[in-house]
Amino acid sequence: MENRYDVAIIGNGPAGLSAALTLKNRNKNVIVFANSKTSSKVEKAQEIHNYLGFPEISGTDLAQRFLEHAKVSQVHIVEVGISVVYHMGEYYGLRTRNNEMYEAKTVILAFGVQFGKLYPGEEAFLGRGVSYCATCDAMLYRGKKVVVIGNSPQDEAEANFLADLAEQVYYIPNYKKVESLSEKIQVIYDTPVEITGDAVVDTLVCKNTSIQTDGIFVLRESVAPAQLVPGLAVEDGYVVVNRKMETNLPGCFACGDLTGAPFQYMKAAGEGNVAAISAVAYLAAQ
Ligand SMILES: Cc1cc2nc3c(=O)[nH]c(=O)nc-3n(C[C@H](O)[C@H](O)[C@H](O)COP(=O)(O)OP(=O)(O)OC[C@H]3O[C@@H](n4cnc5c(N)ncnc54)[C@H](O)[C@@H]3O)c2cc1C
Repeated sequence: MENRYDVAIIGNGPAGLSAALTLKNRNKNVIVFANSKTSSKVEKAQEIHNYLGFPEISGTDLAQRFLEHAKVSQVHIVEVGISVVYHMGEYYGLRTRNNEMYEAKTVILAFGVQFGKLYPGEEAFLGRGVSYCATCDAMLYRGKKVVVIGNSPQDEAEANFLADLAEQVYYIPNYKKVESLSEKIQVIYDTPVEITGDAVVDTLVCKNTSIQTDGIFVLRESVAPAQLVPGLAVEDGYVVVNRKMETNLPGCFACGDLTGAPFQYMKAAGEGNVAAISAVAYLAAQ
């Protein structure tokens, strides 16, 4: 298979890129998946004073340095989000947000954390009308009504994909301007408040209106780790790892903010380095 790698890394912040550099130095066949060109948590920092070698640097400049370093080291970065990772026993299957499949012998999870509250009812109805992945669950909503809550213009592609199958798609943008949404989709500018239903979802209650629906897709930059990787052990929202950055799944490592506090660039980069070395050892033992 063409899309098969030694190591697949999900995330391009300091954790993911540090892991990628170490793996390239060890001559491994590695691919990095990234939602966007740079990590917003790096890009948005006004001034950074605690990154070794850079007494004072802006987030934009540090992000640029990371990209240059990755380029010089010929790290293969694909700008597409991963929607789900399947543990297939001997290898991992990764499905991208545009529905392509990749395979890797090991996986390094470095997709950071997104702080922010879930909508009331979101967790309770997960799998019963609430979904985080259009490409995974769209078939369930053929001929039905769905609502998509998008958090960035990148989410519009998933809504467009749903519009080809569902009878009606409503799109609620949690950002200023819709960019490339299909004409079939009805845009509603409102604020989601609560997800309600009985056995399954039936309504999205918003500030000014209520939408009757069969399903609600909540699209965020990052999803809960156990949603992305079914079977992954998580505690208080963070991936459980040991000092080798090993998770409970063989050949699956995690690093950076994803493993918990402290939330720091150097800690993330350090853990990425450890995860990469552990992945090399794992591959050697196979
Ligand atoms: C404004 C601000 C200022 C900060 N200042 C400092 C500071 O001065 N010093 C310091 O040490 N720390 C600082 N931090 C904390 C620091 O940003 C984080 O600890 C660090 O970025 C964590 O790195 P990471 O690689 O784990 O995750 P991130 O940097 O969050 O990177 C994760 C990447 O993965 C991508 N991703 C998520 N899900 C997926 C998916 N499914 N598929 C593909 N890609 C995905 C994300 O888009 C993101 O690009 C600051 C944070 C903020 C928000």
